[in-house]
Amino acid sequence: MHRVKPTPKLPLSAAPAVLHVDLGALAANYRSLQALAAGEVAGVVKANAYGLGVAAVARCLMTAGCRSFFVSSLAEGIELRSLEPEARVYVLEGTGSEPRRCRDERLVPVLNTLAEIDEWAQAGGGAPAALMLDTGMNRAGLDAGDVAALAQAPARLAALNIALLMTHLACADEPGHPLNQRQLERFAALRQLLPAVPTSIGNSAGALLGRDYHGDVVRPGIALYGGRPAVSGPNPMREVVRLEARVLQIRRIAPGTPVGYGASWSAAVPVRLATVGAGYADGYPRALGNRAFAIAAGQAVPVVGRVSMDLTTLDVSALPDGALAVRDHVQLIGGGMPLEAVAEAAGMVNYEILTGLSLRLPRRYEPAP
Ligand SMILES: *Cc1c(COP(=O)(O)O)cnc(C)c1O
Repeated sequence: MHRVKPTPKLPLSAAPAVLHVDLGALAANYRSLQALAAGEVAGVVKANAYGLGVAAVARCLMTAGCRSFFVSSLAEGIELRSLEPEARVYVLEGTGSEPRRCRDERLVPVLNTLAEIDEWAQAGGGAPAALMLDTGMNRAGLDAGDVAALAQAPARLAALNIALLMTHLACADEPGHPLNQRQLERFAALRQLLPAVPTSIGNSAGALLGRDYHGDVVRPGIALYGGRPAVSGPNPMREVVRLEARVLQIRRIAPGTPVGYGASWSAAVPVRLATVGAGYADGYPRALGNRAFAIAAGQAVPVVGRVSMDLTTLDVSALPDGALAVRDHVQLIGGGMPLEAVAEAAGMVNYEILTGLSLRLPRRYEPAP
């Protein structure tokens, strides 16, 4: 799609910041989940593939063997359909109140309410649909009462071509949480009331909980993109995303000299500062001011002062003289600075950092798609 391409006719080296996306690592993450999975591994590519660029990500996953994808909205489904005519595309938010359009685009809506089920039965013409069962998240999907009502209405059921019965885990990122097991039990009970069709349970974290939590189709998103699926512990996934910014200026400042908006930080000793070309308009959160670290010349250096819209200042005094020069690149995310460390410093989660990466960042895919 045009929107994730670098500015036309400018070399990437002219960009103050670039988002590097390692498609080899993406494919490797897909394959390692495939090796764990009891059945099929679908790719969750909602929100522009978590900010990485849905065109390149979907193509890469198709090449790795992925055939089914989940997107959030009808608009995302239509976009993916145009990119990948052969893929099976599930739309998590259902028909978007446009069941005919959904059917005509060969999208599989995930139906979340009885009203939507009836609407689809009238307009879907027997095309496949998925049903989402809410087993403990209390967010989206049919509850136990809805499933009972459906089970007692054979005509309603007969009008549906149910391709997949789904549920979604609330606490899969906490392996010891009792709700995980309870959701499995509720799902098993509700399934008994409905036709015997394939199931889909786990997201990324669910995929790592073991095969009981997979169903026939596991639905990872964040793990594909290298994010740590569990709230703590080591990250078994390969790093996919690296945000690099160019050094625009290096200056020395004397003790007592303030830096940036609000003069929120001042040098206590003589300091060497590097100003780099990325800020909160790129999706490097403003909350990281005076909190995060970046990797410059292979070493962790602190962000000092507030993060501006387009610029961030680093204290690079710890680097040997000459180790960092104007036009060199520093790593703000990845390349030694884990996504999770950045998220934690911002008081955010890895999902927020990835989906917040701005469309103005050129995406550089390696290898090229
Ligand atoms: C976003 C989403 C996923 C993927 O979740 P990850 O935690 O990124 O693996 C799976 N299922 C549903 C219903 C989702 O909304």
